[in-house]
Amino acid sequence: IAQRLAPLLQQKGTSRDGESVSLLANIALAAEAEGAFAAGAEGIGLFRTEMLFCERSAPPEEEEQYQAYRHVLEQAQGRKVVIRTLDIGGDKPCDYLNLPSEENPFLGWRAVRLYPAFLTLFSHQVRALLRASATGPLHIMVPMVATLEEVKWLHTQFHQIAEQLQSEGLAIGEWHLGIMAEVPSALYLLERAAAYIDFVSIGSNDLLQYFLACDRGNPRIRHLYNHCDPGFLRLLNDITASAQRAKLDICLCGEMGGDPTALPLLLGAGLRQISMSSGRIGQVKQHLASLDTTACRQTLEDAFSCESANEVESRVKAQTAQRN
Ligand code: PEP
Ligand code: MG
Repeated sequence: IAQRLAPLLQQKGTSRDGESVSLLANIALAAEAEGAFAAGAEGIGLFRTEMLFCERSAPPEEEEQYQAYRHVLEQAQGRKVVIRTLDIGGDKPCDYLNLPSEENPFLGWRAVRLYPAFLTLFSHQVRALLRASATGPLHIMVPMVATLEEVKWLHTQFHQIAEQLQSEGLAIGEWHLGIMAEVPSALYLLERAAAYIDFVSIGSNDLLQYFLACDRGNPRIRHLYNHCDPGFLRLLNDITASAQRAKLDICLCGEMGGDPTALPLLLGAGLRQISMSSGRIGQVKQHLASLDTTACRQTLEDAFSCESANEVESRVKAQTAQRN
């Protein structure tokens, strides 16, 4: 397979009807960037920064972070890079923060909700990110945003920190602020948030968990946790449409992005930037080349009227086999 895919890997993602679709990579370490580009990524759609912070006894200094972010931007050579600010709490522990144990950690004090109380930690990360933007254009994304107040708070913080860096004479390049759409309230948030942010990325892993009230890691209810759920597909479609109306750049970066069965549904919803594990890019690019985006819209509309995720899956498989 590797040999057969090799010529395709370095080509841009294109559907059978000639629509460009950027296939980007999710990474968890700066050192993974090279491998991601070699695997055919057109950019880094999600750099999860938790690994830089966790499994150690103290947070990384601003300089260590700056070097890591700069490394990814250097490897990208102008291609898109999205780096996510710290997403801890819930399933992502971090010992030295001494976070209290909670009854409902997935619904608790995590990610963006921690930043006001850990302002030094947060501002060091933002300083490192903004400084790194002098190396190449940088998209900075914040996890678990649920309300407009959070968006406004972030906007103010980022601009204050940027001014501070400028007053210190430190260089800043092109940077964009965005949020993850991984709490269902994002659907009703984006149009108003658009005054403060530039882009949004759908985190389908958490979005599905919160939409269906279904723990993403609990094997007992795994049958419920399926991204082909017809209601969930409507949510994805509506979030994408809302982002487009608000002129926000939109991407998807959950595991769903690497699932070939989901691909026609994502294209049908209008998504044209999809980020996934590097190992999935070759296969997804190949499948993309066989799909017609107009037919994908119909596939999605047919999925809306299905009764279950299983029915969606079997219909999609049958339709893509028939139409292509
Ligand atoms: C997501 O929730 O879809 C996502 C990309 O973030 P993580 O898997 O890191 O929670
Ligand atoms: Mg998430």
